[in-house]
Amino acid sequence: MGQRRGLALVTGASSGIGRSMAVMLAREGFDLALVARRRELLDELAKELPSGTEVRVITADLTDPSAPERVISALEGRPVEVLVNNAGGGWVGAFDEAPLPRQLEIIDLNVRALVELTHRVLGPMKAARRGHVVQIASVAGFLPGPLASVYYASKAFVVSHAEALRAELAGSGVSVTLVCPGPVATEFQRSSGVRGSFGATVGMTADEVARAAVDGLLRGTFLVVPGASNAALVALSRVVPNRLLAAMVQRLQKKRLDAQS
Ligand code: NAP
Repeated sequence: MGQRRGLALVTGASSGIGRSMAVMLAREGFDLALVARRRELLDELAKELPSGTEVRVITADLTDPSAPERVISALEGRPVEVLVNNAGGGWVGAFDEAPLPRQLEIIDLNVRALVELTHRVLGPMKAARRGHVVQIASVAGFLPGPLASVYYASKAFVVSHAEALRAELAGSGVSVTLVCPGPVATEFQRSSGVRGSFGATVGMTADEVARAAVDGLLRGTFLVVPGASNAALVALSRVVPNRLLAAMVQRLQKKRLDAQS
């Protein structure tokens, strides 16, 4: 293995895209800080990483408002070279029928924790004139999302915020990469309340998405939309009226809900 490349902090590293990105970043020579709630999965992952990788396992529920600060304190002053805001959750169902605590948790995790972690690492990155921020959003961030409205809106926040940061950070030495996957075969479908065969069979693999994300961040690419059909959907979202996009998403989400009843 070549020279160590600094520390990558990956949230949601216990499964899916975050886990795959952690493995790939370690192979690229980064040390790792792994964050999620399930300690045993993070410990298992830590054992699988290439020897020579310095690994910190940080157990945190990022819906807890005090968690982002605790995560950064656990680094004991080590600067973050790469921040991957990947931890995220969703819910499928009519807005007024979905449990309010779950909807608020989605905002705390997908928006609040992402904003705070980004804010806490950005100052030191700018001072050092180096670093990469990777925001894992979704194609959902480009669409209105009937029957998953808070999830889609949370990802629209991430897209808008990343586009603004990109402009603010131009010439600063710090890059932003916005990753917008379509459906990916991970635990996400189940944790978002999608049961039955629909969630299990659709989408790209976590490894495919992680590869595109890691390549994008290493090249300093801003927008990464893995998969040709997802890229086409993002392009379409820029020209088709939101009313029509909403009808399309509503049909898709209804199919998901019907598949589990
Ligand atoms: P996943 O397999 O369910 O992984 C989610 C990760 O987030 C897990 O490591 C989970 O770990 C962590 N997490 C969840 N709640 C957390 C909390 N309260 N505090 C700390 N960590 C938490 O799903 P994934 O598909 O890899 O999702 C990763 C990202 O991709 C998400 O932001 C998601 O919105 C986005 N995305 C997914 C899809 C898809 O179809 N799968 C499509 C587009 C975008 P613990 O449970 O151990 O805490």
